[in-house]
Formats: sequence, C-alpha cells, structure tokens
Amino acid sequence: MGRSDWKKEEIAEWYKKAIPDLLFEAASVHRAFHDPLKIKLNTLISVKTGACSEDCAYCAQSARYSTGVKPSFLDEETVLEQAERAKELGATRICLSASWREASSRKQVDELISMAGKIREMGLNVCCTLGMINEEGASVLKKAGFSAYNHNLDTSERYYPTIVTTRKYSDRLNTIDKLIQSEMPFCSGGIIGMGETEDDRISLIHTLATRKIHPYSVPYNLLVPVKGTPLQNVLGKADALDMVRMIATSRIVMPKSIICLAAGRESLSEEAQTLCFFAGANSVFIGEKLLTAPNAEPSKDIALFNKLGIRPETNSDE
Ligand code: SF4
Repeated sequence: MGRSDWKKEEIAEWYKKAIPDLLFEAASVHRAFHDPLKIKLNTLISVKTGACSEDCAYCAQSARYSTGVKPSFLDEETVLEQAERAKELGATRICLSASWREASSRKQVDELISMAGKIREMGLNVCCTLGMINEEGASVLKKAGFSAYNHNLDTSERYYPTIVTTRKYSDRLNTIDKLIQSEMPFCSGGIIGMGETEDDRISLIHTLATRKIHPYSVPYNLLVPVKGTPLQNVLGKADALDMVRMIATSRIVMPKSIICLAAGRESLSEEAQTLCFFAGANSVFIGEKLLTAPNAEPSKDIALFNKLGIRPETNSDE
C-alpha cells in the first residue's frame, strides 16, 4: 500500500517536471515494484451494450445520443466464445461490462455471475464494470469470484458536471468507498482529451492517489470522439505526451497499482506507446474492440511487444 496523504501540490510538481526527470523517476519506481518486462493483457466484453440512462458526454452507449449503437445483451454462449478468443490472444483477465446506471437487476447480475464462473473455469480472472453498486452488491460479486470492480472517475470533480449531469462525483466516490468497505479490489481511472485543463488531470490523479486504498488498476483512456455525442468535436484534445505525464505521475504516486493504457491506444504510434510503457503502464486491453470503440489490432500488439522485448504476463505471474 502506498501513501494516501499526497498533497495536490506534490502531485502537480511531479506532473509538471521536465519529461526526462519525470520518466527517470517513474521508470525507477516501476522497476522497484513491478517487472518492467511484463505486460498484463485484459479483454473487455460488452455483455449489455447501449440503451444506458446516463448522459456521459463521451459515450456511444447513452440512450440520449444518436450514435448508431444497437442495444443488446449477449447470451452466455457468445460471451464464452469471446472469452476463449481473448485467451488465445494471451489475455489473463476478462472484464464483463454492462451499460447500467447501477447493478440493480438481480436476474441479469445472476446471468453475469454464471458467465463469470464458466470463464474462471477456463483459467481466466474475471472482473466487471456494472455502474454504481452498494456494499451488499459488491460482497455478492466478491463471493461469486469477481476479482475486481471497475468504476472510473472520468475526470476531476470540477470538470465532472460538464461531462455527466445524471449523477454526481460524490456518487462515484461513494461507490469506490463501498468497494473498499467490502474489500473488493477496485479499478478506477479516467479519460483525457475531453477539454479538461492540466489542473483537472492533476486533480484526478490526486483523488485516485488519496483513496484509503489505491486502485488495483488505473485505466487511462484518450478520448475517442464518437459521432452523435456532445464530445464529437471536442476541442483541447490530449496528445501522447499528456498521456505519458498522466501515467508517469500515477506510477510515482500509486506505485503498486497496475496502470492500464486503455482506449485511444490505436491512435498512438508505436514510439508513443513505448514511452507509455517506459513511464509505467503495464497493462493494455487486447482485442479488436473496446466496448463500441475500435482497439489496436492484436497482431500489431504482439509484434510490438516482441519488438520491445516485453512479454504478456501469465496467470502464474499474478
Ligand atoms: S459511460 Fe457507462 S454510465 Fe455513462 S452513458 Fe456510457 S454506459 Fe452509461
């Protein structure tokens, strides 16, 4: 467990350091806490897609925007086929996703629990992202064998109401508190390139790094603008070096957390991704799609890892 008493100014100081100094420190911390030659591969399976009641301005799945996403709930057979394909690609972890405001339908949660049991029988870890959840729900999922629960903060508390109006930042933090109370490891990160300021990015890192327990994993996404959403033409995009700063600073202040270079990776060059790995990112999503967004091609990923001399982590490494 790392420090949870970081001051925002300390985090800002790291974030704003000259890149060579920031990278040197981040890579040193990375080496001290992780094997820098290993990368964890995850696959996200969108079990319930679209028709979401929330209004997250970046999301293709909100029922409020015309994005062309067709609502669906995958049957177990399809989910297991996708998990098998992910395993073939080297994934050790499957994240089951449902576009819900909160995990309130016990029947559908039971279906997810059944799917998770069968995926675990394939030798894969299973986590999930199902919206807000209370302590009881988190305990049920933990007992059912889910190894982590994802709940992203998206951005800073200041900028959050510009991005989402159907729930509050405090709701997000409350769900994270419930996960901590029920001892369910949680994953939480955000998206950059939504028009937020540098201070918003620093605030997001500060909020994550000052939870009582640091996230098991911190996924960072580069906005993939979706036609039909309010952010389709967003100004103030982030670039690769902004992502490098996010990852490196997070690596320094949350040394044990896994840091995942998530959506938007296909827009980064091999060299930019390499810098992200050097800065401390040690996890990616593998597979053709990330929910509704395109993802980097698996064959290109494998070729890049080979070129860099890093190798996918196996379950025995966990
Ligand atoms: S991000 Fe999640 S909660 Fe927000 S609209 Fe999309 S599916 Fe719904």
